[in-house]
Amino acid sequence: MRTAPLTVQARQDALDALRRTDERDGELDVLVIGGGVTGAGIALDAVTRGLSTGIVEAQDWASGTSSRSSKLVHGGLRYLQMLDFHLVREALTERDLLITRLAPHLVKPVSFLYPLENRVWERAYVGAGVALYDTLASVSGGRRRAMPIHRHLTRKGMERLFPDLRHDAAVGAVRYWDASVDDARLVETLVRTAVSYGAHAASRTQLVRLHTTSGGAVTGAELVDLETGEHFDVRARNVINATGVWTEKTEALAETEGGLRVLASKGIHIVVPRKRIEGNTGLILQTEKSVLFIIPWSRYWVIGTTDTPYEQDLTHPVATSADIDYVIEHANQVLARPISREDVIGTWAGLRPLLQPGTKEGTSSAKVSREHTVASPTPGLTVIAGGKLTTYRVMAKDAVDFAIGSRATTLPSITDDVPLVGAEGLRVVQRQARAIAARYGWDRPRMDHLLHRYGSLLHELTDMIDERPELAEPLRNAPAYIGAEVLYAVTHEGALHLDDVLMHRTRLNYEQADKGVGALEEIADLIGPVLGWDDATREREIAAYRARAAAEDAAAAEADDESAERVRLAAEDITPLLPVGGEVDPGTKPGSPSGRGTAAPYGT
Ligand SMILES: Cc1cc2nc3c(=O)[nH]c(=O)nc-3n(C[C@H](O)[C@H](O)[C@H](O)COP(=O)(O)OP(=O)(O)OC[C@H]3O[C@@H](n4cnc5c(N)ncnc54)[C@H](O)[C@@H]3O)c2cc1C
Repeated sequence: MRTAPLTVQARQDALDALRRTDERDGELDVLVIGGGVTGAGIALDAVTRGLSTGIVEAQDWASGTSSRSSKLVHGGLRYLQMLDFHLVREALTERDLLITRLAPHLVKPVSFLYPLENRVWERAYVGAGVALYDTLASVSGGRRRAMPIHRHLTRKGMERLFPDLRHDAAVGAVRYWDASVDDARLVETLVRTAVSYGAHAASRTQLVRLHTTSGGAVTGAELVDLETGEHFDVRARNVINATGVWTEKTEALAETEGGLRVLASKGIHIVVPRKRIEGNTGLILQTEKSVLFIIPWSRYWVIGTTDTPYEQDLTHPVATSADIDYVIEHANQVLARPISREDVIGTWAGLRPLLQPGTKEGTSSAKVSREHTVASPTPGLTVIAGGKLTTYRVMAKDAVDFAIGSRATTLPSITDDVPLVGAEGLRVVQRQARAIAARYGWDRPRMDHLLHRYGSLLHELTDMIDERPELAEPLRNAPAYIGAEVLYAVTHEGALHLDDVLMHRTRLNYEQADKGVGALEEIADLIGPVLGWDDATREREIAAYRARAAAEDAAAAEADDESAERVRLAAEDITPLLPVGGEVDPGTKPGSPSGRGTAAPYGT
């Protein structure tokens, strides 16, 4: 398979191809709106069925919820409490498929301790639940087990694995396995895989209008290239709307009353340096409302999440001081050495697309699972929302099946057998790892980091380094990354701005206390020449990221969402979104005019 790079030129070619659908090249089979995990999954599903496919994203790939999750690929132990075995089994099937076949470089096993307060009944209850979890996984895969099975630990065994767990916090634990993934990276990899199979993909391209026939059927869309401000039209047999918490705004462009009702609920995470908490596994803790995870990553811990109704700006949710205090307080209930605000080096906030029951009036048909819904408010338009990162592939399959109707019988989804770029040949590169590391002077953690991020595409980075050996060196002010990774972000991974590199290709925005600001100059030195920046553009890019970082820090000092939003919006986006439909400003509220529904429990 030819692996296509996402470059500025590739984006331009995609825009040209989309534009031509209005002139001589006829219509697309599928135009996907929204480049989060759902939209990216749909683009891959559609193009691998042999359908001509385009996908547009208003911001950078994965800028919405899909870069702001807990980053777990999991069945959701909580759903077992609700006796939703089908859902758990489906998610575990997807987890195991990703880890064994589709993206073994990106998705990695991670174990969790479920601490027990009661020796007898709780051990029996939790033990039975986790055993069922493991059984559902082995049933679902039908192949070799992808994960180790759970184990019961005594208090001593538990403390050996997690020395910083408070002695009186638990009498023992059950250790079970799930998986984690860099969510933004998963999305970018999905887009790149879709493009490699022929999809036309353009980030920073916004849907502003849907074209309809006199009878109301959707026939295409008006898009805006936000890099240039140019408006253009695209014709498509099927437009699939995968815009997450923006669903109600974008589906309204079809000017029907129908569609899905989607509200937003906010969840935040904090990031704490790895050495601050001594432990070799994750923790899952019950809270009043949901669960709190303490998740180990290579250099830090991710702790979250919260679940609060949200009515502010959809594009820039931030963690408030109240959110951060809540997470710290709950983590400290089990930590022997309590953490404080000073230990928090980063935060992020994401918005859950909360599907409300039923569909709006006029929606002719809908396929509903407990997690996600696919609906068609009018012919030519399919809307999908809900679900979770883990089950993106199932959502994508359902959306495309639904959109193409009876054609799905002769063109079924094949994505369960389509490895993402970087997966093919992974085992070979793993075997060559020692030699590669020796050649470029990398230690074991560096090599693991690179294999995890690029898999078998690592050779594309080493080719760059062979031409410019200095690219093998770590950045001076962000040493977790080497120069080649930053350059590769724009030569192969579709980054167009400093923002894209610091937010999504690397995660410097939350991985360093300075949000990566100290590394801006060296990153700009690397990417500026490739992106054709003159001095003024370079200064504008640096100033915009600095302003964003300062606004995020200031917002995190505010107590509530309303004041945090005001402070955050002081920094303007590098390519601001346009108001959609009757929208007045980017912060207009989601949800139906009749008011908010109840937030469904979330099963991270
Ligand atoms: C705090 C939190 C933790 C979570 N943890 C987990 C987890 O651990 N595991 C798990 O499996 N799931 C998890 N989830 C759920 C998961 O993250 C989401 O279900 C998923 O990311 C939603 O993806 P999406 O593509 O539907 O939406 P999004 O990622 O929001 O994508 C929608 C995209 O549409 C774009 N868009 C909007 N309007 C337009 C327009 N007019 N034109 C073009 N583009 C447009 C937006 O810019 C956005 O990028 C979590 C969610 C939250 C909030």
